[in-house]
Formats: sequence, structure tokens, C-alpha cells
Amino acid sequence: MNFSKMNLEGRVAIVTGGSRGLGRGMALALAEAGADVVVTSRTLPALEKVAEEIRTQGRKSLAIECDVSNIKDIQRMVELTRNKLGRIDILVNNAGTIARSSAIEVTEKDWDPVINTILKGSFFCAQAVARVMIPQKKGKIINIGSLTSKIGMPNIIAYVASRGGILQLTKGLAVEWAKYNINVNAIGPGYYKTQQTAPLFADKAWTERTLKRIPLGRIGMPEDLAGIVVFLSSDASDYITGQMIFVDGGWLAM
Ligand code: NDP
Repeated sequence: MNFSKMNLEGRVAIVTGGSRGLGRGMALALAEAGADVVVTSRTLPALEKVAEEIRTQGRKSLAIECDVSNIKDIQRMVELTRNKLGRIDILVNNAGTIARSSAIEVTEKDWDPVINTILKGSFFCAQAVARVMIPQKKGKIINIGSLTSKIGMPNIIAYVASRGGILQLTKGLAVEWAKYNINVNAIGPGYYKTQQTAPLFADKAWTERTLKRIPLGRIGMPEDLAGIVVFLSSDASDYITGQMIFVDGGWLAM
């Protein structure tokens, strides 16, 4: 194995939802592997901090405000990236949100932001970036799935539906864009302690039950996604497309 294949020097990556949590972790990992990284979300001050962390690693970075549920925002973000950094090699579709209530009580106001951020946002970011990758004749698109891409969980139905959609979005784009040499894969994280899961981890009984359910016996940390995101962004994964790889401490194996 030639490990220089994992080197991302000269590559430009975009990480949506890069202001905190898993997105910030993956953005830092890509920079550590050599990529210049654009971080986007709806909150510029938080993004600026992450961009500064990336610059201190010796890489270029831009912080761009972008609501991924808004197609005009996406087009502006992709244009800015191309104009300032010259190319786009990697997209990590990480921006996401969740709404917690029983399915019987879900309203349109709960449903739309979840589907529009995760499913609509991931697709239109992929489409905008693919239009840059196609003339470059190469690209890596990495979607973020979840345990709920594979299994059901109660009281988060819009999230479950959108994550199931992400699995099929990954396969559909992988087969359609293989002819352009664009690999489309996904990462399926298990349970990670972040702002999204803070309400769950605030419940001690839930946390104990969850820890017992994870074969590796611990909660995931953002660093646990570093290896897989670099691998799927690099030439080392050129023959992998249409896959969702779970980084879940063994949850789905049990
Ligand atoms: P966080 O809630 O900590 O971070 C979510 C990120 O997405 C933030 O940067 C947020 O920034 C951004 N975001 C939210 N809505 C939008 C939007 N409309 N447009 C652009 N950016 C947006 O979540 P995590 O770090 O935990 O999760 C990251 C991703 O991984 C999410 O998609 C999540 O659903 C998924 N995931 C998380 C798991 C976990 O255990 N934590 C497990 C499986 C999947 P801002 O609000 O400033 O826009």
C-alpha cells in the first residue's frame, strides 16, 4: 500500500455544518491530511474560529455563511470557493438538524427543516459541486448518514426518513456520476456527544443503557471520524462508490 495515496495536499474540500461537532472534527482532519478546507454553516463567527484553527495548521481556509436548505446560498458558496481557491475536490455533506416528538404530533414546521437541511441540502450541494467536479474529471462526495439510515428509532421520524433518503441518495448519485469519476459514499456515525445529542446524554439512565448497547463500550468522539473521512476523500478509495460505512462502535453488528 502506498500511503502517499492518503495525502490530500493540493485538494480543496468543503465541509457543510463545519462550525462545530462532527463537521468541525472532519474539517480539521482533512486539513491535517493536507487539504485546504472551506467550512460553511449559518453562523459566521463560529465558522471563523474553525477557519482560523485550519490556518494555524498551515492550510488555506474560508468561512462561508450558507444555509444548505437555500439553493441560492449553495450556489453563492460554491462560486466563492471556486473563485478564491480555484477548484473543488471534496464535499462533505454534514449539515443536519433534528426534531424530537412522536410521529403523531409532528407538524410541517417540524418536518420541513429536517428534510430540507439533510436531504434537499445534501442533494443540491452535491449537484452544485458536481458541476465543478465534472470538468475536473474527478471528485469525492461524502454524505453523512446515521444508524437511522438502516434502522428505525422512535420520536424522530423526519430525521429517520431523511437519513434513509441519504442512503439512497448516495447509491443513486454513485451510479449516475461514476462515469464522471466522482465517487459518492457516506459515513454512518453511531452515537457521538455533540450539540445534536446533548438532550439524550443529559439523561443518565439513557446514557447507561446506550453504553451497554455499544459493543466497543464507549461513545464516539469527533476524532473517530478522522480516518474514514480522509480515506474516502483520498485516492486510496478510488474503487469504492455507493457505500455507507458505519463508524458506530459495533452498534449495527449486534
Ligand atoms: P451539531 O448540531 O453539533 O452540528 C450541526 C452543524 O450543522 C452545525 O455546524 C450547524 O451550524 C449546521 N447546520 C444546521 N442546519 C444547517 C443549515 N440549514 N444550513 C447549514 N448548516 C446547518 O451536530 P453533530 O455535529 O452532532 O452532527 C453533524 C451531522 O452528523 C448532522 O447532520 C447530524 O445529524 C449527523 N449525525 C450526528 C450524530 C451524533 O451522534 N452526533 C449521529 C449520526 C449523524 P448552524 O446551526 O450554525 O447552521
